[in-house]
Amino acid sequence: MKIEEIRADFPILGRLVHNKPLVYFDNAATTQKPQVVIDALVAYYSNLNSNVHRGVHYLSQQATEAFEAVREKVKVFVNARYSHEIIYTRGCTESINLVAAAWGRANILSGDEILISAMEHHSNIVPWQMLCEEKGAKLTVCPIIEDGSLDMKALAELMNSRTRLLAVTHISNALGTINPVREITRMAHEKGIVVLIDGAQALSHMKVDVQDIGCDFYAFSAHKVYGPMGIGGLYGREELLNSMPPYQGGGEMIKSVTFEKTAYNELPFKFEAGTPNVADVLGFGAAIDYINGIGIENIAAIEHELLLYANEKFSRDPLIRIIGNAPEKASLISFMIDKIHPYDAGTIIDRFGVAVRTGTHCAQPLMDSLGIPGTIRASFAFYNTKEEIDKLMEAILKVEALFL
Ligand code: PLP
Repeated sequence: MKIEEIRADFPILGRLVHNKPLVYFDNAATTQKPQVVIDALVAYYSNLNSNVHRGVHYLSQQATEAFEAVREKVKVFVNARYSHEIIYTRGCTESINLVAAAWGRANILSGDEILISAMEHHSNIVPWQMLCEEKGAKLTVCPIIEDGSLDMKALAELMNSRTRLLAVTHISNALGTINPVREITRMAHEKGIVVLIDGAQALSHMKVDVQDIGCDFYAFSAHKVYGPMGIGGLYGREELLNSMPPYQGGGEMIKSVTFEKTAYNELPFKFEAGTPNVADVLGFGAAIDYINGIGIENIAAIEHELLLYANEKFSRDPLIRIIGNAPEKASLISFMIDKIHPYDAGTIIDRFGVAVRTGTHCAQPLMDSLGIPGTIRASFAFYNTKEEIDKLMEAILKVEALFL
């Protein structure tokens, strides 16, 4: 498939910013949406809008069928064993909070330890901090080594008899590091430690296979995989999900209710209280179909080439310092331009119509440990081009000329 054809699928890529063609390099924050995803939302509200699982009428049944068909699609996409192992949530953040609230409250005791890594997004830090505070448990943090990889030796040492849960990101949104989650899961399981993987950054870049990884929970957001905002999911192993109390109470998650006692619904509905976000689930389904149409391996190959190209360009500029050089990296580059504050650089780069992210990327403890105020981050998707990277480079040269 030609790049022009791919780009034509994404209407926003045709717009101007500051009178210049938009160069969108903030894909790690959220990806742009192909027309098929936008159409799926319009089609739902135009033709199908009704509440799911509740009506015998035609529309409700059709909406329910479409809604559950996407669950099956997500199951296949991440290779879960059963579709009821996929819980719809508002996104990765809510998925992690669900595990902290439901599994955590039932399983974490005073003196227990929860192990995370130094490269976690706030979403995979704060819910565990809150749980530890509530339970009198301890949060332990595995450091990273110089190149931005996890310190695997330290990780092994930090897994001890008190460790109940390991929560680690698949891909770092701030460094691009791809963590060896399969090996990490194996190490944790040998010690009886439950494993949650934050997959927010992974689904759009690589084939994710939760059975192959072997993890207990895997959290993700649709909007980072070309789908709509406000929807995402949690994969959980059936046995664990069955053993957990519900997350929220309300309609949908019950089998029967009396004032004396409520019987909870079966999986996955036990964890899906209230009217769900049907339209965005259907949009997520359209995004998965779209990705499958291009092929995740093709996407990975295009993105890898963009990463190599950008790396080569950046390394020729002595003023650029790349933060995070792990051997296994996703298609994003975090960098600093000499001593220039990332915010100042980002403001100038924006004037070129180039959207990069600046700041701590919701990984403030990581930036603190690196002793930097933040970085500039260019994150590439398969619809980006080498010419766009050249435009970023042009903007960087302008920043250097202005500030140095
Ligand atoms: N984890 C990582 C690694 C992320 O990059 C993000 C978002 O940037 C999240 C979690 C949170 O995702 P969301 O805000 O979609 O819930």
